[in-house]
Amino acid sequence: MRPSTIIAHHGEDRKDYHGAVVPPIFQNSLFTFENADAIDHAFSNVEDAYIYTRGNNPTVTILEEKVAALEHGEACKFFSSGMSAISSAILHFVNAGDHVICIDSVYGPTSNFLSEYLGKKFKIEIDFIKGGLDEIIEKTRHNTSLIYLESPSSGIYACQDLKAIADYARDKGIGTVVDNTWASPIFQNPLKLGIDIVVHSASKYLCGHSDVVAGCAVSSRKIIKEMFMGEHQFLGSKISPFEAWLILRGLRTLPIRMERHQSSTRKVLDYLGSHPKVLEILYPDKDPIALKQMKGFSGLFSVVLDTDGQGARDFIDCLNYFSIGFSWGGFESLAYAPIISLSKELPPDKLKAAGIHPGLIRLFAGLEDPEDLIEDLKQALDKI
Ligand SMILES: *Cc1c(COP(=O)(O)O)cnc(C)c1O
Repeated sequence: MRPSTIIAHHGEDRKDYHGAVVPPIFQNSLFTFENADAIDHAFSNVEDAYIYTRGNNPTVTILEEKVAALEHGEACKFFSSGMSAISSAILHFVNAGDHVICIDSVYGPTSNFLSEYLGKKFKIEIDFIKGGLDEIIEKTRHNTSLIYLESPSSGIYACQDLKAIADYARDKGIGTVVDNTWASPIFQNPLKLGIDIVVHSASKYLCGHSDVVAGCAVSSRKIIKEMFMGEHQFLGSKISPFEAWLILRGLRTLPIRMERHQSSTRKVLDYLGSHPKVLEILYPDKDPIALKQMKGFSGLFSVVLDTDGQGARDFIDCLNYFSIGFSWGGFESLAYAPIISLSKELPPDKLKAAGIHPGLIRLFAGLEDPEDLIEDLKQALDKI
């Protein structure tokens, strides 16, 4: 089955709910048993049984079956947020005193979880690297238990050679996790390249409608079972049945939404690429590694405008169809000027030393008409 058909048909059996075309929201905390033997049966395979909604829930299971199939994994577990799926996947591989290798452009809270939280509290050692296999080989120690990747990565869209790194890690007995949020399962499937666990912030493309915060991990049945019995149960970070149902609804249009994000972004970038006030475009579509391992490119990118910090603020203030906001992956176009928060954290000389241009703008091309998005960018560029 191909992605669109998986989404429409896989993982549901309408006989279970009177032929209803849309699965119901099983909004119940617990499940009752017909007799004592039925409890015995449930407890002999807890990871698949319906006992209590902190563990499994039928609405959530339908979503998990579909996303597992989309990522070519054996199993999937949904979590209360992308960060919950990420921290659980990291905890799955890392024990006290271990060493982790992570890319330096990883999503900020993931970086902080590793260095600030695990590093300080549990003496986990971390090396941040750009992402090349040679650096990974050089940094590998006897106690390295995890290589954490995000390809394309947050902010700069850096890509890592997932197959080469997965082959190396497997050989050394090191776990691998990839955050696949930017590409979505439609444009990249890291498990097929040998990666152990794929994580997503489902708050972005999987949901696609900016009304849910959730996350998921996809892997082998063995790893998902261990994560279910461990991190998922102990941290109690379940998704609610209603949110799973909303993601199921959003997921139905995932392939056509991704096509639209891709084609609109290409049109917008064609326009921006020839604009004299645009100094640079950050987007991975010309990266040879990305071209080798990805089937398409999504809607989040950055541009460097020939302006200062005030110009960057004025630019986003002038946009009409790009709302100012964090997150992305929904129906609506978004804009953000990183200088606003960075200038609070770093003085101007440090910003310059870090290579951060004040005219850097992050844009997300939503589902509006691309011609309107281009006109909006044009009028805002005219004003700075
Ligand atoms: C948003 C995001 C996350 C975190 O997801 P939440 O659902 O907000 O917890 C993780 N990784 C990437 C790449 C993201 O963009």
